[in-house]
Amino acid sequence: MARLAVVTGGTRGIGRAISVALKNAGYKVVANYFGNVEAARQFSEETGIPAMKWDVADYAACEAAVQTIAAEYGPIEIVVNNAGITRDATMHRMTYQMWNEVIQTNLTSCFNMCNLVIESMRSHGFGRIVNIGSINGQAGQYGQVNYAAAKSGIHGFTKALAQEGAAKNITVNAIAPGYVDTDMVRAVPPAVLEKIIAKIPVGRLGRAEDIARCVMFLIADDADFITGSTVSVNGGQHMY
Ligand code: NDP
Repeated sequence: MARLAVVTGGTRGIGRAISVALKNAGYKVVANYFGNVEAARQFSEETGIPAMKWDVADYAACEAAVQTIAAEYGPIEIVVNNAGITRDATMHRMTYQMWNEVIQTNLTSCFNMCNLVIESMRSHGFGRIVNIGSINGQAGQYGQVNYAAAKSGIHGFTKALAQEGAAKNITVNAIAPGYVDTDMVRAVPPAVLEKIIAKIPVGRLGRAEDIARCVMFLIADDADFITGSTVSVNGGQHMY
Protein backbone atom coordinates (compact mmCIF):
# COMPACT_ATOMS: atom_id res chain seq x y z
CA MET A 1 0.00 0.00 0.00
CA ALA A 2 1.28 3.46 -0.90
CA ARG A 3 2.38 5.56 2.03
CA LEU A 4 0.44 8.76 2.83
CA ALA A 5 2.26 12.10 2.82
CA VAL A 6 0.99 15.50 3.95
CA VAL A 7 2.76 18.57 2.58
CA THR A 8 1.95 21.87 4.30
CA GLY A 9 1.89 24.81 1.92
CA GLY A 10 1.85 22.11 -0.72
CA THR A 11 -0.06 23.88 -3.48
CA ARG A 12 2.42 26.58 -4.56
CA GLY A 13 6.16 27.08 -4.98
CA ILE A 14 8.48 24.59 -3.31
CA GLY A 15 5.57 22.73 -1.68
CA ARG A 16 3.89 22.20 -5.02
CA ALA A 17 7.04 20.62 -6.47
CA ILE A 18 7.29 18.37 -3.39
CA SER A 19 3.64 17.28 -3.67
CA VAL A 20 4.06 16.49 -7.37
CA ALA A 21 7.33 14.58 -6.86
CA LEU A 22 5.69 12.48 -4.14
CA LYS A 23 2.68 11.72 -6.30
CA ASN A 24 4.88 10.82 -9.30
CA ALA A 25 6.81 8.40 -7.08
CA GLY A 26 3.57 6.62 -6.14
CA TYR A 27 2.83 8.14 -2.73
CA LYS A 28 -0.66 9.23 -1.66
CA VAL A 29 -0.48 12.98 -1.07
CA VAL A 30 -2.62 15.62 0.62
CA ALA A 31 -1.47 19.20 0.05
CA ASN A 32 -2.38 21.92 2.53
CA TYR A 33 -2.81 25.64 1.82
CA PHE A 34 -4.38 28.57 3.62
CA GLY A 35 -5.08 31.81 1.76
CA ASN A 36 -4.81 31.31 -1.97
CA VAL A 37 -7.94 29.35 -2.84
CA GLU A 38 -7.63 29.89 -6.60
CA ALA A 39 -4.04 28.57 -6.71
CA ALA A 40 -5.15 25.53 -4.72
CA ARG A 41 -8.09 24.86 -7.02
CA GLN A 42 -5.83 25.05 -10.08
CA PHE A 43 -3.23 22.86 -8.40
CA SER A 44 -5.75 20.10 -7.68
CA GLU A 45 -7.21 20.34 -11.18
CA GLU A 46 -3.77 20.05 -12.80
CA THR A 47 -2.25 17.41 -10.54
CA GLY A 48 -5.21 15.39 -9.22
CA ILE A 49 -3.79 15.88 -5.69
CA PRO A 50 -6.39 16.86 -3.06
CA ALA A 51 -5.80 20.27 -1.46
CA MET A 52 -7.05 21.03 2.07
CA LYS A 53 -7.37 24.47 3.56
CA TRP A 54 -6.26 25.08 7.14
CA ASP A 55 -3.98 27.42 9.07
CA VAL A 56 -0.86 25.54 10.18
CA ALA A 57 -0.31 28.16 12.90
CA ASP A 58 -3.59 27.13 14.56
CA TYR A 59 -3.30 23.95 16.66
CA ALA A 60 -7.04 23.24 16.69
CA ALA A 61 -7.22 23.64 12.90
CA CYS A 62 -4.28 21.23 12.48
CA GLU A 63 -5.94 18.75 14.82
CA ALA A 64 -9.19 18.81 12.85
CA ALA A 65 -7.29 18.43 9.55
CA VAL A 66 -5.16 15.52 10.79
CA GLN A 67 -8.28 13.72 12.03
CA THR A 68 -10.11 14.26 8.72
CA ILE A 69 -7.12 13.10 6.66
CA ALA A 70 -6.60 10.00 8.80
CA ALA A 71 -10.29 9.09 8.54
CA GLU A 72 -10.39 9.63 4.77
CA TYR A 73 -6.98 8.39 3.60
CA GLY A 74 -5.41 6.41 6.46
CA PRO A 75 -2.53 7.07 8.85
CA ILE A 76 -0.15 9.92 8.00
CA GLU A 77 3.33 8.43 7.58
CA ILE A 78 5.20 11.35 6.01
CA VAL A 79 4.95 15.03 6.95
CA VAL A 80 6.72 17.78 5.08
CA ASN A 81 6.51 20.99 7.13
CA ASN A 82 6.95 23.43 4.29
CA ALA A 83 4.41 26.23 4.84
CA GLY A 84 6.14 29.51 5.53
CA ILE A 85 5.81 33.27 5.27
CA THR A 86 8.00 36.34 5.52
CA ARG A 87 7.19 39.64 7.20
CA ASP A 88 10.47 41.50 6.70
CA ALA A 89 11.57 44.64 8.55
CA THR A 90 14.59 45.75 10.51
CA MET A 91 14.21 45.43 14.29
CA HIS A 92 13.37 49.10 14.88
CA ARG A 93 10.47 48.80 12.42
CA MET A 94 9.32 45.26 13.19
CA THR A 95 6.03 45.04 15.05
CA TYR A 96 5.16 42.34 17.55
CA GLN A 97 2.57 41.12 15.06
CA MET A 98 5.21 40.65 12.32
CA TRP A 99 7.39 38.74 14.76
CA ASN A 100 4.56 36.58 16.02
CA GLU A 101 3.02 35.72 12.64
CA VAL A 102 6.33 34.46 11.33
CA ILE A 103 7.15 32.45 14.45
CA GLN A 104 3.68 30.89 14.57
CA THR A 105 3.44 30.07 10.86
CA ASN A 106 7.01 28.89 10.29
CA LEU A 107 7.98 27.30 13.62
CA THR A 108 4.95 26.62 15.83
CA SER A 109 3.39 24.92 12.80
CA CYS A 110 6.12 22.27 12.99
CA PHE A 111 5.20 21.59 16.62
CA ASN A 112 1.50 21.48 15.75
CA MET A 113 1.84 18.97 12.92
CA CYS A 114 4.48 16.77 14.56
CA ASN A 115 2.69 16.73 17.90
CA LEU A 116 -0.47 15.53 16.17
CA VAL A 117 1.07 12.75 14.04
CA ILE A 118 3.85 11.46 16.29
CA GLU A 119 1.73 9.03 18.32
CA SER A 120 0.43 7.34 15.16
CA MET A 121 3.96 7.16 13.71
CA ARG A 122 5.26 5.65 16.94
CA SER A 123 2.56 3.01 17.03
CA HIS A 124 3.17 2.07 13.36
CA GLY A 125 6.96 2.03 13.80
CA PHE A 126 7.46 4.28 10.81
CA GLY A 127 7.62 8.01 10.18
CA ARG A 128 9.40 10.47 7.94
CA ILE A 129 9.38 14.16 8.87
CA VAL A 130 11.08 16.80 6.76
CA ASN A 131 11.11 20.41 7.95
CA ILE A 132 11.89 23.17 5.49
CA GLY A 133 14.34 25.59 7.09
CA SER A 134 16.35 28.20 5.25
CA ILE A 135 19.82 29.44 4.44
CA ASN A 136 18.73 32.53 6.41
CA GLY A 137 18.22 30.38 9.50
CA GLN A 138 21.86 29.28 9.16
CA ALA A 139 23.49 32.57 8.22
CA GLY A 140 20.99 35.22 9.44
CA GLN A 141 19.71 37.95 7.15
CA TYR A 142 19.32 41.70 7.42
CA GLY A 143 15.66 42.60 8.01
CA GLN A 144 14.69 39.06 8.96
CA VAL A 145 15.15 38.68 12.70
CA ASN A 146 11.76 36.95 12.88
CA TYR A 147 12.32 34.64 9.90
CA ALA A 148 15.93 33.77 10.81
CA ALA A 149 14.86 32.95 14.38
CA ALA A 150 11.99 30.74 13.20
CA LYS A 151 14.13 28.88 10.66
CA SER A 152 17.04 28.52 13.06
CA GLY A 153 14.52 27.16 15.56
CA ILE A 154 13.46 24.56 13.00
CA HIS A 155 17.02 23.31 12.76
CA GLY A 156 17.20 22.78 16.57
CA PHE A 157 13.68 21.30 16.65
CA THR A 158 14.76 18.78 14.02
CA LYS A 159 17.78 17.57 15.98
CA ALA A 160 15.81 17.18 19.22
CA LEU A 161 12.87 15.34 17.68
CA ALA A 162 15.23 13.12 15.67
CA GLN A 163 16.64 11.82 18.95
CA GLU A 164 13.16 11.00 20.22
CA GLY A 165 12.05 9.29 17.02
CA ALA A 166 15.14 7.21 16.27
CA ALA A 167 14.17 4.10 18.21
CA LYS A 168 10.77 3.98 16.47
CA ASN A 169 12.02 4.30 12.87
CA ILE A 170 10.86 7.92 12.71
CA THR A 171 13.45 10.07 10.99
CA VAL A 172 13.39 13.85 11.29
CA ASN A 173 15.49 15.96 8.95
CA ALA A 174 15.56 19.52 7.74
CA ILE A 175 16.40 21.09 4.42
CA ALA A 176 17.90 24.56 4.28
CA PRO A 177 17.13 25.89 0.81
CA GLY A 178 19.04 28.80 -0.62
CA TYR A 179 17.20 31.29 -2.80
CA VAL A 180 14.59 29.45 -4.86
CA ASP A 181 12.60 30.94 -7.72
CA THR A 182 9.09 31.11 -6.18
CA ASP A 183 6.55 33.85 -5.40
CA MET A 184 8.36 34.41 -2.07
CA VAL A 185 11.63 35.31 -3.80
CA ARG A 186 9.91 37.16 -6.66
CA ALA A 187 8.78 39.63 -3.97
CA VAL A 188 12.46 40.62 -3.38
CA PRO A 189 13.37 43.84 -5.26
CA PRO A 190 15.19 42.99 -8.56
CA ALA A 191 18.33 44.95 -7.62
CA VAL A 192 18.66 42.99 -4.35
CA LEU A 193 18.01 39.72 -6.15
CA GLU A 194 20.74 40.46 -8.70
CA LYS A 195 23.24 40.89 -5.85
CA ILE A 196 22.07 37.62 -4.28
CA ILE A 197 22.47 35.64 -7.53
CA ALA A 198 25.98 37.06 -7.93
CA LYS A 199 26.87 35.35 -4.64
CA ILE A 200 25.61 31.89 -5.70
CA PRO A 201 28.55 29.86 -7.07
CA VAL A 202 26.24 27.74 -9.24
CA GLY A 203 25.16 31.02 -10.86
CA ARG A 204 21.39 30.69 -10.69
CA LEU A 205 18.47 30.67 -8.29
CA GLY A 206 17.32 27.29 -7.08
CA ARG A 207 14.34 25.58 -8.65
CA ALA A 208 11.53 24.20 -6.51
CA GLU A 209 12.36 20.78 -8.00
CA ASP A 210 15.90 21.01 -6.51
CA ILE A 211 14.32 20.98 -3.05
CA ALA A 212 11.79 18.28 -3.94
CA ARG A 213 14.65 16.00 -5.04
CA CYS A 214 16.17 16.28 -1.57
CA VAL A 215 12.84 15.57 0.14
CA MET A 216 12.44 12.39 -1.92
CA PHE A 217 15.88 11.24 -0.80
CA LEU A 218 15.11 11.85 2.88
CA ILE A 219 11.67 10.22 2.99
CA ALA A 220 12.63 6.93 1.34
CA ASP A 221 11.97 3.79 3.38
CA ASP A 222 15.66 2.88 3.21
CA ALA A 223 16.81 6.34 4.37
CA ASP A 224 16.37 5.16 7.95
CA PHE A 225 19.98 5.89 8.96
CA ILE A 226 19.69 9.55 7.98
CA THR A 227 18.17 11.52 10.83
CA GLY A 228 18.78 14.81 12.59
CA SER A 229 20.46 16.27 9.51
CA THR A 230 20.04 19.64 7.94
CA VAL A 231 20.80 19.37 4.24
CA SER A 232 21.78 22.61 2.51
CA VAL A 233 20.42 22.96 -1.02
CA ASN A 234 21.73 26.36 -1.99
CA GLY A 235 23.98 26.21 -5.07
CA GLY A 236 27.04 26.57 -2.84
CA GLN A 237 26.01 29.97 -1.47
CA HIS A 238 26.58 29.07 2.18
CA MET A 239 28.64 26.06 3.20
CA TYR A 240 27.55 25.36 6.73
P1 NDP B 1 5.44 30.45 -1.34
O1 NDP B 1 5.10 31.78 -0.75
O2 NDP B 1 5.60 30.32 -2.81
O3 NDP B 1 4.34 29.36 -0.85
C1 NDP B 1 4.05 29.26 0.50
C2 NDP B 1 3.06 28.17 0.74
O4 NDP B 1 2.77 28.12 2.15
C3 NDP B 1 1.74 28.40 0.05
O5 NDP B 1 1.18 27.18 -0.39
C4 NDP B 1 0.87 29.00 1.16
O6 NDP B 1 -0.52 28.79 1.00
C5 NDP B 1 1.38 28.22 2.36
N1 NDP B 1 1.07 28.89 3.62
C6 NDP B 1 1.47 30.11 4.05
N2 NDP B 1 0.96 30.38 5.27
C7 NDP B 1 0.22 29.29 5.61
C8 NDP B 1 -0.56 28.94 6.74
N3 NDP B 1 -0.70 29.77 7.79
N4 NDP B 1 -1.19 27.75 6.76
C9 NDP B 1 -1.08 26.88 5.73
N5 NDP B 1 -0.36 27.16 4.62
C10 NDP B 1 0.28 28.35 4.57
O7 NDP B 1 6.73 29.97 -0.56
P2 NDP B 1 7.99 29.11 -1.07
O8 NDP B 1 7.52 27.97 -1.88
O9 NDP B 1 9.00 30.04 -1.61
O10 NDP B 1 8.56 28.60 0.34
C11 NDP B 1 8.22 27.33 0.88
C12 NDP B 1 9.05 27.13 2.14
O11 NDP B 1 10.43 27.19 1.81
C13 NDP B 1 8.81 28.17 3.21
O12 NDP B 1 8.88 27.58 4.48
C14 NDP B 1 9.98 29.12 3.02
O13 NDP B 1 10.28 29.82 4.19
C15 NDP B 1 11.07 28.15 2.63
N6 NDP B 1 12.19 28.76 1.92
C16 NDP B 1 11.97 29.37 0.72
C17 NDP B 1 13.04 29.91 0.04
C18 NDP B 1 12.88 30.57 -1.28
O14 NDP B 1 13.88 31.11 -1.75
N7 NDP B 1 11.73 30.56 -1.91
C19 NDP B 1 14.39 29.87 0.60
C20 NDP B 1 14.49 29.19 1.86
C21 NDP B 1 13.42 28.66 2.48
P3 NDP B 1 -1.42 29.77 0.06
O15 NDP B 1 -1.11 29.37 -1.34
O16 NDP B 1 -2.81 29.45 0.47
O17 NDP B 1 -0.99 31.17 0.36
